[in-house]
Amino acid sequence: MRKADLGRIIEEKRERFIELNDKIWEFAETAFTEFQSAELLCRALENEGFSVERGTGGVATAFCGSWGNGSPVIAFLGEYDALSGLSQKGGVAEKEPLVPGGNGHGCGHNNLGAGAFAAAVAFREYLKSSGKSGTVRYYGCPGEEGGSGKAFMARAGVFDDVDVALTWHPGSVNAVFPFSSLANFQVAYRFKGKSAHAAACPHLGRSALDAVELMNVGVNYLREHVIPEARMHYAITDSGGFSPNVVQPKAEVLYLLRAPRTPQVEEIYNRVNKIARGAAMMTETELEIRFIKACANVVQNNVLERVLERNFAELGVPEYTEEERTFAKAIFDGIAPSERSSDLDQYSAPGGAAGREAAKRLRERPIADEVLPYGESDFVLPGSTDVGDVSWIVPTCQAWVATWPNHTPGHSWQIVSSGVVSLAHKGMLHAGKVLAAAAADLLDDPSLIDAAKEELRARLDGASYRCAIPDEVVPKAIQPSGR
Ligand SMILES: [Zn+2]
Repeated sequence: MRKADLGRIIEEKRERFIELNDKIWEFAETAFTEFQSAELLCRALENEGFSVERGTGGVATAFCGSWGNGSPVIAFLGEYDALSGLSQKGGVAEKEPLVPGGNGHGCGHNNLGAGAFAAAVAFREYLKSSGKSGTVRYYGCPGEEGGSGKAFMARAGVFDDVDVALTWHPGSVNAVFPFSSLANFQVAYRFKGKSAHAAACPHLGRSALDAVELMNVGVNYLREHVIPEARMHYAITDSGGFSPNVVQPKAEVLYLLRAPRTPQVEEIYNRVNKIARGAAMMTETELEIRFIKACANVVQNNVLERVLERNFAELGVPEYTEEERTFAKAIFDGIAPSERSSDLDQYSAPGGAAGREAAKRLRERPIADEVLPYGESDFVLPGSTDVGDVSWIVPTCQAWVATWPNHTPGHSWQIVSSGVVSLAHKGMLHAGKVLAAAAADLLDDPSLIDAAKEELRARLDGASYRCAIPDEVVPKAIQPSGR
């Protein structure tokens, strides 16, 4: 079997991959509740002859499908979690929830899971026909959104014997991901006070809500005195009740702290903890600090980026029908210039002058239908992904493949709407082809894997992966407010 046959294999099974894509979209399960989506993918792997382990790394909705023997171990990472509150009908250009208040695939992880699966299946055929030693794995990685599922899996050591990991992310552009990202910690601060009649005997009350407010004021003063790349976000997840005439006896605020490297996040975290303790002292309330999750920054790998880039450039982008272009234009036209995502500018920048030219050509096109020129980059994308944890352990690389219209903002109803139309199906299948082709190159030329490992060693410069999530913390589904 030749490398060129990988695309044919994916096309032959396209209906199966599309069915997976659409079913996961329908399930729309949020972080660590993806039981139906995970089971669907496990069965699909079993049908393809993979041996499947469920509950990988002690995470209930994680799994690992494996085929073959020995090294190299080439892994594809799949995701399948949705976002809360983003329910939306598919294939329509206006905001219209499918289930009011329901969940939706606002980050395209249904595409991600199905596309990475297509890659694993196609590459398995290639490996089989080669007669070479090698193992293909599909890691089902839950809870990327707000849960850092891969970090929990990495903590359990499930990626330790992998040689190379490949993945992709659905998006509005076609490019290799050449950036780093921010490491983060997510931590809940819960204050416990004393309730009292707010008018008759306020002196008897101790307000937990006051503590939350004072903590936030303190952190807002801290902002000026942290590194400029840091980000500190918060959400008040429990304001203590609905009655202003009762002193709030409980309140909780959830913090997401980010910085380019884990030790920097840790330093900020320790300072935020001091502020929280100060707020508790000022209000005479009790404080409970609950670590929720963390993820590491992405360690780039130029060797793998070039392998992906070469294959992406060779395969180009799918051809789009008039119908697909019309749908994309309807979504595109509804996005005000001020609401456009910055993806095109960010992903074209590493390509230098050629990148700027490409961005200029693509700017007003409803589908960004070109592969952006690649260039190495030191840019730290102001966002986080738990792919970062894997990238510290094993050389890892991601492609960005257009599955939704150009400039579509992230985590939006437009992404949910696009997730089940043929535009997304094509992008998802295409991502499978690009990843499978890259894996074939790695199998055929093991020196690439050696070089990728050497680069990882050099970038870590003696450091090694340490999961920032304390041992006693277990993955938890997103809790409703007040819990
Ligand atoms: Zn995502």
